[in-house]
Amino acid sequence: MATLVFLEDHEGELVKGSLGVLTKAAQLGGDVAADVAGSGVRELAAQAGRFGAARVYAADDPALAAPLPQPRVDVLAGLVRDKGFDTVLFGASVLSADVAAGLAARLGAGLNWDLVDLELRDGALVGKRPALQDSVVAEVTWKGEPRIALVRSGTFEPAETGGDAEVEDVPVALEDFSTKAVMVERAHAESEGPSIEDADVIVAGGRGLGEPDKFALLEELAGALGGAVAATRAVVDAGWYPYSAQVGQTGKTVAPKLYVACGISGAIQHKVGMQGAGTIVAINKDPNAPIFEYADVGVVGNLHEIVPKLTALVKERG
Ligand SMILES: Cc1cc2nc3c(=O)[nH]c(=O)nc-3n(C[C@H](O)[C@H](O)[C@H](O)COP(=O)(O)OP(=O)(O)OC[C@H]3O[C@@H](n4cnc5c(N)ncnc54)[C@H](O)[C@@H]3O)c2cc1C
Repeated sequence: MATLVFLEDHEGELVKGSLGVLTKAAQLGGDVAADVAGSGVRELAAQAGRFGAARVYAADDPALAAPLPQPRVDVLAGLVRDKGFDTVLFGASVLSADVAAGLAARLGAGLNWDLVDLELRDGALVGKRPALQDSVVAEVTWKGEPRIALVRSGTFEPAETGGDAEVEDVPVALEDFSTKAVMVERAHAESEGPSIEDADVIVAGGRGLGEPDKFALLEELAGALGGAVAATRAVVDAGWYPYSAQVGQTGKTVAPKLYVACGISGAIQHKVGMQGAGTIVAINKDPNAPIFEYADVGVVGNLHEIVPKLTALVKERG
């Protein structure tokens, strides 16, 4: 297998999700290479060696400064054609999903998306893809090459193996149509602490908070635990918290070590985004709330009383 992993970068760092996919690719074996594409990214390229890439192709060009998909499709399509990769892997993100889809269209290749595992069976790559609201897992393969896969975010943890990568510069030649889209503005939400994708601890709130201002209770607990705040779709739709914090089927998939769900009923569409958490603690005043069916620790009670006490206890322990 000759695998190319697309590494995404953000604010001068390689994105954790794509490094996790690189780690998995290295575990599967064969020739494993990575690609970084952006402006000023050459410095980052060598870091990929620590996560299992033997070679990293660096497409470093001001034309790739904006996180737009088509120029990256040009780079990857060129690499697949010139170097003969039979497999291209992506960790899911807004950008990667667009690049993977664009690459599949450009090469006439098959793309399996939302995978939660990859394995080699008798030499053939097999992907696992949850279906029917994650109640079953379907096994998927590819009919031809290159095989393109988009892995669900938070699926694989990056692991350093300590290797060295050879960095090869890639000349950037863009198709005319790939430069038609330009980025007009890039807005950036101000936030403190880790993002919900990276946090080891997530404190999540739902409609049980009663009103938007009560998210302050969760922010304080998350701050004390060094974690991030997430939300259900019900409260995001109501405008209580930003969409970027939504966990679930139509939001993000997260896999923190600890997930504290406050005033969340535990609908299946929420569950699919957080069931990979190490320990799930639920605080809900309704003892029959569905979330208690899959929480590791359940607290039946009023979150407005419990959460401030919990925060005080965490602060006390320092
Ligand atoms: C196609 C589709 C996609 C969806 N995608 C998502 C998604 O990505 N993410 C998502 O979250 N949802 C999603 N939903 C919505 C989902 O079905 C639920 O409606 C939603 O998750 C419910 O949010 P909630 O738990 O905040 O609210 P509710 O279901 O209203 O639950 C509120 C809970 O708070 C408890 N409560 C009330 N007061 C207190 C208190 N004082 N102390 C403690 N507990 C209290 C109640 O007992 C209740 O269990 C989707 C739905 C559809 C149809």
